[in-house]
Amino acid sequence: MDRRQFLGALTGLSVGSLLPSRLAFPAIRTSKSMRGPVAKGPVIVCSRGKEWGEKVTRPGYEILTHGGHLLDAVEKSANVVELDPEDVSVGYGGIPNEDGVVQLDASIMDGPTHNCGAVAALEGIKTPCSVARRVMERTDHIMLVGKGAQRFAVMHGFKIENLLTEKARLLWLKWKENLSDKDDWFPAPEGVDYNQKRITGTINVFGLDAKGDLAGITTTSGLGFKIPGRVGDSPIIGAGLYVDNEVGAAGATGRGEEVIRTLGSFYVVQLMREGKSPNEACKLACERIVEINKRNGVPIDFNDKFIALNKKGEVGCYSILGSKERPPRVAWMDDKGFHVYEGGYLIERKK
Ligand code: ASP
Repeated sequence: MDRRQFLGALTGLSVGSLLPSRLAFPAIRTSKSMRGPVAKGPVIVCSRGKEWGEKVTRPGYEILTHGGHLLDAVEKSANVVELDPEDVSVGYGGIPNEDGVVQLDASIMDGPTHNCGAVAALEGIKTPCSVARRVMERTDHIMLVGKGAQRFAVMHGFKIENLLTEKARLLWLKWKENLSDKDDWFPAPEGVDYNQKRITGTINVFGLDAKGDLAGITTTSGLGFKIPGRVGDSPIIGAGLYVDNEVGAAGATGRGEEVIRTLGSFYVVQLMREGKSPNEACKLACERIVEINKRNGVPIDFNDKFIALNKKGEVGCYSILGSKERPPRVAWMDDKGFHVYEGGYLIERKK
């Protein structure tokens, strides 16, 4: 068969039939039970439940409903957790790395322009998502890390401050004093309980304005007691955050390494593009992570959670681990008030 005949033969085949079944796109079907609630009017969504959800979504919602800018809305909402010393997983007050130094990761994505910005391993600046926004708006780069990110932040008027609160320092000290052979360094012992006792957190914030434009932020202090310089999924566009103005937004929290190697948020948005509901897309991303780990014989003793918002305002979330008491949650504020939705999970969390 020459090249022309070969190409001719191909035209009779669909793309799906050329791919091994594992890689073929899944069939597009959304059962009614996987449809999520639909937010009305301008909306701010975040990956927390009631306790933080209302505090976080309100300032962004106020901005959106008073003629403000979509990016200001998501930034001001994300800043609420970043600036609050009580939250030990984001911004100021975040759990430090194994040296006792707080290193922050954040990303931002603007739907209408498809622009994005990110910072990673940033020290001494309380609001990393605001620095990520400056990277997006004031440079033609996408990600700055470490000292370079800090110098860039200072140039833009951000103050270097001590981010280690007493609460986080004591948590770190306790961890340090109880160090065992179960740390991050290879070779790891057989069947290591890697993530069970590690403090994780992070927040995803999305906005959908009256024009139907989308934007999103993910911000975190990352994995508690991480190896200095470790960067998680949160500042990696497509992993911890992805926004496509034609389709929707997705964000991840939990064990970032899994989300990076599946490009989880991009995958969720892509599934929504193919017709899946936000819930269903988030569920499929969780299943993908579990499938990869099962194939490698790795026990599923870690969690990842995805939240998503589509262009029509439909919200969804799903996690790998969960329980009746601790299901994955997504919260939003829209013209009907503040809401929390509990999504599904794949595996019952051990008590
Ligand atoms: N995803 C974050 C990271 O891996 C941590 C988390 O969400 O808890 O850095």
